[in-house]
Amino acid sequence: MRVIAHGVRGSVPAPGPDTARYGGNTSCVEVNLMDGTRLVLDAGTGLRELGKQMAPGPTKVHLLLSHTHWDHVLGLPFFIPLWRKETEIVVYPLASEAQERFRKTITLFDEIHFPVGVDDIPASFDFVKPEGSVWQIGSAQVSRIKLNHPGGSQGFRIVDADGSSVAYLTDNELALPAPGGGSDDELVRFADEVDLLIHDAQYLPADMPAKVGWGHSVVDDVLELARRARPTKLLLFHHDPDRTDTELDAIRDASRSWLKDQNVACELDIATEGVVHTLPPR
Ligand SMILES: [Zn+2]
Ligand SMILES: [Zn+2]
Repeated sequence: MRVIAHGVRGSVPAPGPDTARYGGNTSCVEVNLMDGTRLVLDAGTGLRELGKQMAPGPTKVHLLLSHTHWDHVLGLPFFIPLWRKETEIVVYPLASEAQERFRKTITLFDEIHFPVGVDDIPASFDFVKPEGSVWQIGSAQVSRIKLNHPGGSQGFRIVDADGSSVAYLTDNELALPAPGGGSDDELVRFADEVDLLIHDAQYLPADMPAKVGWGHSVVDDVLELARRARPTKLLLFHHDPDRTDTELDAIRDASRSWLKDQNVACELDIATEGVVHTLPPR
């Protein structure tokens, strides 16, 4: 399995010299499976970058959205393959009824928010509703979990046929009661020993308590999740738009020290646009 983040920022795109190294595009992660199937996790502005890399010709993309907030869908109109007839986009179910309405109409394309209506898009959308709690997509098995976020969000665990695995958990607030599901204990089980854990780490303790209930995690709580779930590698993701590259360097160093002090054998990095993570077979 190959995993590439094309957008790593939370809330709103944050271009500029202070964010150029890790990247200013919002959430979008590409997952390439061993049978050649391409999954796209979220359609933030990073999707635009992915689209530029995709050659013309018959293309099939499996789109799994965590939820429908702006920063997770805004790249869709600017995804070049959308404007080609030979592109097929398979869209998977969302976490709530309200969000399902978005999925069926792609409400971005209402000719108010964007000049082109959904019926005039050349690519075809396939709104699937797979049976059961584990979906077979290409060579992978995909399961999902409800996350703790205003309006609802969902996370995914993708296990390829060779055993390599990634868990994508963004727009999730750890360490709070989670009435809608996705308690910390459930998440530990869900992400248990994955090769790559990608988790929302938007905040620092200094941001609290002002941002309690905003639906994002404090880095310290993400490290605690990693200590318990034991992934091979943790990527801190969904960076605050105001967090500079230099501040992210400091978060990386402090986080690595904490894991070392706790004797947690887990690599850690700051999610960075364009970096390829190759997960070996198990
Ligand atoms: Zn977000
Ligand atoms: Zn959100």
